[in-house]
Amino acid sequence: MGAELNLQTPIEYLKGVGLHKADLLKKELSIFTFQDLLLYYPFRYIDRTRFYKIQELNGDLPTIQVIGRVLAKEIIGEKQARRLVVQLKDETGVMELVWFRSLSWIDRIVHAGLVVIVFGKPNEFNGKISISHPELEVYNPALKKSGNPTLQPVYNSTEKLKQCHLDSKGIQKLQEILVDTVSNQLSETIPDYIRQKHVLIGKIQAIREIHFPATMQSLDQAIKRLKFEELFLIQLRLLHTKRLRTDKFKGAIFAKVGDKFNAFYATKLPFDLTNAQKRVLKEIRMDTQRGVQMNRLLQGDVGSGKTVVALMTMLLAVDNGYQACIMAPTSILANQHLKSIQHLIGDDFINIALLTGATPKKERRKLHEALLDGSLHILIGTHALIEDPVQFHNLGLAVIDEQHRFGVEQRGKLWRKNKIPPHMLVMTATPIPRTLAMTLYGDLDISVIDELPAGRKPIKTIHLYENQRLRMLGFMRQEIAKGRQVYLVYPLIKESEKLDLLYLEAGIEDISAAFPLPDYKISIVHGKLNPADKEFEMQRFVKGETQIMVATTVIEVGVNVPNASVMVIENAERFGLSQLHQLRGRVGRGAEQSYCILMSTNKLSADGRIRLNTMVRTNDGFEISETDLKLRGPGNLEGTQQSGVLDLKLADLVHDQELLQTVRNEVIDLFDQDPELGAEQNKILKEFFQDSNPGIHYNKIS
Ligand code: ADP
Ligand code: MG
Repeated sequence: MGAELNLQTPIEYLKGVGLHKADLLKKELSIFTFQDLLLYYPFRYIDRTRFYKIQELNGDLPTIQVIGRVLAKEIIGEKQARRLVVQLKDETGVMELVWFRSLSWIDRIVHAGLVVIVFGKPNEFNGKISISHPELEVYNPALKKSGNPTLQPVYNSTEKLKQCHLDSKGIQKLQEILVDTVSNQLSETIPDYIRQKHVLIGKIQAIREIHFPATMQSLDQAIKRLKFEELFLIQLRLLHTKRLRTDKFKGAIFAKVGDKFNAFYATKLPFDLTNAQKRVLKEIRMDTQRGVQMNRLLQGDVGSGKTVVALMTMLLAVDNGYQACIMAPTSILANQHLKSIQHLIGDDFINIALLTGATPKKERRKLHEALLDGSLHILIGTHALIEDPVQFHNLGLAVIDEQHRFGVEQRGKLWRKNKIPPHMLVMTATPIPRTLAMTLYGDLDISVIDELPAGRKPIKTIHLYENQRLRMLGFMRQEIAKGRQVYLVYPLIKESEKLDLLYLEAGIEDISAAFPLPDYKISIVHGKLNPADKEFEMQRFVKGETQIMVATTVIEVGVNVPNASVMVIENAERFGLSQLHQLRGRVGRGAEQSYCILMSTNKLSADGRIRLNTMVRTNDGFEISETDLKLRGPGNLEGTQQSGVLDLKLADLVHDQELLQTVRNEVIDLFDQDPELGAEQNKILKEFFQDSNPGIHYNKIS
């Protein structure tokens, strides 16, 4: 071949790979080059430095190895519980090896008298030690002394790869070659002075150690270094993006707090702002006086009072000669914003209009004119807002409600509505753990309303089992008799949609029988209804014509019916935590005590139990989202799909929160001191951006 082998060499040129295996590596693991494989890390290690004695084992140990002789084997149990149990003995005791799958395969190779090396994680139950699905190797005394005892890397492989000898061991052999030949070509990604400060080993050493650690300690150092790097590069990109945007885009300057704002505050605002609301307004004030575009995420639980903050920010814009708009994900929500804002400011205060898909042509034309000549101050609407014919005289602020429903693309469209892109305030009622927010929205500034208005009665949450259904029905009757309204929500999940719809139908029948006409009226809303019917049914409930709304999760976002004080969630164990929390947020909006009743089957999974207990224990959205993150990992939380957090190989947003904060602070300092990355000591970072050209493409947006 002759050519130099390097990190970018296609994987088929690696000794022992060839075209067929290369094809599989590409398809199965997305490994295309030497470097891709070198950056494919082991997911665990087998401690080959010693053999344990059976007597020493306990349930707290990680994967270990034991040598023993098979005493006996037996298949026991029926159906799902059917398993193969092997008794293994050494000179110190006896333990069990258990298989639930591949019984006949194991049965064929394992027989009494055989001496085996067993790898696996010990479990302890009633003082008995067992290992489920251990790896087995027939003990060969001749090989015992060979090689160095080490921490042996274990790589994830796939069925197809295993069939052509690329199991964990096969991959290990390839890694040995790569580490010997090309690992020294890896370039450093973290500047020396930062490495020194945080005591981080070099890149090359870290990569060698992560594949073939000399000791436990050196493995820890390698992992620490590589985790730091992962988080560092993400934060570097995010904060770089933010800086570019700040440099590139001037922002409208809201220099003064003017008449409208002051008049509203003095004469219209019917309550005292919470401290959290005041703090956020201050943050926004600072942002909008600096002459750069604001990009701020406003997080706050349902009912924390984000709308008032948005309104006051819009008044600030109007006072300074700008227009403002607020975009909601559905027309129902847009309507509600209009109503609650009109309710707060009255009719003749400033000019507000609503624009949705349903706005008639004639009205639209008038609206377009008023927007262009500047006589319309605030526009509230749906996606219709970002359509091309909508042009502003001078848009200074765009508020986006419930940002999960809008993508970056749509944010971009709003930016283009003005020569100077408007300040952006993105509001979400889905609290995200701080660490996740730092990563998902690391290019935005974040404000948090972490306080509910005073005097709000916390929602009482109760968990009832199926056999307590009568209690639930009795409670509904009692609340309806007091004049309250009730939501009854059923799960409707794509994977089990047909069955769920059957349950929904059965549920509707039961409820109609338990709450018969003419005393009771029921609204029914689900995803299969056409939008007009859905809207009609919702409106009946909003107007108080029906007392019960039976729904699938379509009511999750935003409906505001203050008189609805009971939320019953059927099969609550099937919902995720954040979804449950969102649903519960539909009640507790009026002056009355509100309730959330979680109905579940008697058989709960461990996770299901934690979810329901968490809901009963707390109303704090941030606490709930932390628990959700711990249970499900970041990949399943809303909004994470397009973000870099899923590509993390080593770092983990649950366990590495402290490290993430450290890294973020480091990167903030770095850009403060060297915004252009021009300093000699930051040269490798400058090159990083020249090579990878990361971030959003701004020329597309502006
Ligand atoms: P969300 O954060 O869910 O959008 P809203 O802005 O809709 O919350 O506010 C919920 C309710 O609380 C509204 O009726 C609003 O008028 C009221 N509210 C907002 N701030 C306060 C406050 N500081 N004191 C009392 N009530 C408030
Ligand atoms: Mg709201």
